Amino acid sequence: MSPFKPRRQTVTANVGGVLVGSAHPIVVQSMTNTDTADPASTAAQVAELAAAGSQIVRITVNNDEAAAAVPEIVQRLADQGVTVPIVGDFHYNGHLLLRKFPKTAELLAKYRINPGNVGTRHRDDNFRTIVQVAVDHQKPVRIGVNWGSLDQDLLTQMMDDNAKLAEPVEAKEVYFEAMLTSALRSAALAEEVGLRHDQILISAKISQVQDLVTVYRRLGARCDYPLHLGLTEAGLGTKGVVATTAALSIILAEGIGDTIRVSLTPRPGGSRTEEVLVAQQILQSLELRSFTPQVTSCPGCGRTTSTFFQQMAEEIQTYLRDQMPIWRASHPGVEEMKVAVMGCVVNGPGESKHANLGISLPGTFEEPKAPVYVDGKLKVTLKGDRIVGEFLEILNDYVVRTYPSSR
Ligand code: SF4
Repeated sequence: MSPFKPRRQTVTANVGGVLVGSAHPIVVQSMTNTDTADPASTAAQVAELAAAGSQIVRITVNNDEAAAAVPEIVQRLADQGVTVPIVGDFHYNGHLLLRKFPKTAELLAKYRINPGNVGTRHRDDNFRTIVQVAVDHQKPVRIGVNWGSLDQDLLTQMMDDNAKLAEPVEAKEVYFEAMLTSALRSAALAEEVGLRHDQILISAKISQVQDLVTVYRRLGARCDYPLHLGLTEAGLGTKGVVATTAALSIILAEGIGDTIRVSLTPRPGGSRTEEVLVAQQILQSLELRSFTPQVTSCPGCGRTTSTFFQQMAEEIQTYLRDQMPIWRASHPGVEEMKVAVMGCVVNGPGESKHANLGISLPGTFEEPKAPVYVDGKLKVTLKGDRIVGEFLEILNDYVVRTYPSSR
């Protein structure tokens, strides 16, 4: 039995054919970092993210040029057979752009509105305008509140009210409540305008792990809208991956969250798909979804002093990931497979027996042979220079036999 709480019950939103809500698997999404006004590079990155497994891709729509480029982006993707839903991210001028570019409004699968960034003087009118376009085109909307761009009028009002209390609460507490109030009031206003309850998704992103957990616990308890999870501005490299994983794991283990995004700062020239792979790995490590066969490998130690073992673990992991686009269609279920690549005899045979396929490599002073286990039983002992190639042949044979084509 899972030690996690059951999924919080939500309505189901349909985002361009992708169903989001507690009755459906948690959705992985991502966001481009190309200039949307450049349709060729944006379509190329959307296609790359979709190929990596992003089920929804968000693009910024920040000016006339970007809004005008959306039809060409969608067409370029359609020409490649890519049908991933494209979401428009609007700040400040969404009410103007969506009215001015009706084709764009029609082609986007969802609009993201940040209630803190819809203008100061006519905030509610601008918000209503965007929602009315969504109603006219029957599009869902994500109300995406962000700690860094919270509705300042609402926050000031709530801070003032708090200051008048006999026992004021901490300022941070007021921030949390202002985020929730902004999200839930905006959702109510959207329904007033005419959006259906199941056409609204909510997010309330913060960059601090404990704060994010606090806000999502409260949000989850106060509504049944599907929730989009993400640690905003997670950061670079290891820090971004670990902080996101820490935050999302706690929230997901409590049954909260219907779609996730990992907001990593890419390394210069780094692939944007890293955020998709990390999101998938979080869900797969928590056993909430399966995307690709998993490799268990030991860290290595003084018993395995050559780099052969590290290279083999890397080669097998890469091979499995590269095969998945083909195997996903031809060998359904293969994403559940577990492969162990172990550095020596200490834990090698034991760990290998727990995997579907396992290989225990010879440690530094061990006999140069590598026993291979299939479904817990010793199948063969490999020797010589072709250990990796021979192991991959055994692995391919196992995939074909164990996960037969559904066609
Ligand atoms: S399995 Fe062997 S090589 Fe790997 S960490 Fe354990 S003792 Fe070291």
